Amino acid sequence: MESFDELRERFRREAASIADREAWEALRLDWLGRKKGVLRSLLARIGEVAAESRREFGAQVNELKVEVERGLEEIGDRLAAKEREASIADRRVDVTLPGRRPRRGSLHPVTRVTEEIEAIFAELGFSVAEGPEVESDFHNFEALNMPPDHPARDTQDTFFVEGGRVLRTHTSPVQIRTMLTRKPPIRIICPGRVFRFDNDLRHSPMFHQVEGLAVAEGITFGHLKGTLEAFLQRLFSPETGVRLRPSFFPFTEPSAEVDITCPFCRGEGCATCSQSGWMEILGAGMVDPRVLRNCGIDPDIYSGFAFGLGLDRVAMIRYGIPNIRLLFDNDERLLRQVDR
Ligand SMILES: [Zn+2]
Repeated sequence: MESFDELRERFRREAASIADREAWEALRLDWLGRKKGVLRSLLARIGEVAAESRREFGAQVNELKVEVERGLEEIGDRLAAKEREASIADRRVDVTLPGRRPRRGSLHPVTRVTEEIEAIFAELGFSVAEGPEVESDFHNFEALNMPPDHPARDTQDTFFVEGGRVLRTHTSPVQIRTMLTRKPPIRIICPGRVFRFDNDLRHSPMFHQVEGLAVAEGITFGHLKGTLEAFLQRLFSPETGVRLRPSFFPFTEPSAEVDITCPFCRGEGCATCSQSGWMEILGAGMVDPRVLRNCGIDPDIYSGFAFGLGLDRVAMIRYGIPNIRLLFDNDERLLRQVDR
């Protein structure tokens, strides 16, 4: 059996090598454990000690116990200090690191081109007019020279709403509402959402249009052409070529489709313009006298022109977006791409 001096020596030796909580806990169990601890076994053997030495033996065990407890406490304190330091080092803030920027929102490409177009027409003396997206048949079709049996209605895959109303298929009803409530001269543009039952790579059931209308005495086709040229060259580039082709719309006479030289190849011919060098960009014409009459404007005194184009298409051309659905997917990456 080891003497108390030897036990004391052994404890000091073992205590000196403790470097972490796990070893500390093992040491504590070895010495103070309730079942197999060194001190417990010493006390268990007190019966083997001669009766006259028992008091002395008990005192020695107590002395050893006090030393072991104090030793363990010291090591415990040392470990705790070390742990605190490590945790402070872990959480240390490096103030020289660059901060994390909050993500900034940005304007949608369609909003951008809408604002741009509004600004161009504001300089040309046009104001912005708006109207409801759920329209009456009269404002969306009938006043625009499309009576109920008119075949042109079939080209405008219409969403019908309860009560004989429709989701407007174009922003033309805003022109009708303006002519019904204001006297010429009128110069407005009508940007807004329109709806058609149509959904593929190039069409979305909801899309954006801007239409323009000018009504006054003596408005000619020359005014229309000049206005469109000024507008398209501002919107794309001053070198943009503009060409008008005869066309048909029920609400204008004569009517034209308007092409610009392809902004991607500048008229040389490329895949985007099918090698033609031209791109169809809008429809236009002189307001049909019957439309003026439907709105209480005398076509013998007044004349007017109107035009319309797709804002989504302009945004796609401007930002090189290949698929119209990308515009409405709400993917923040698209916004970041156009925000440069
Ligand atoms: Zn091209």
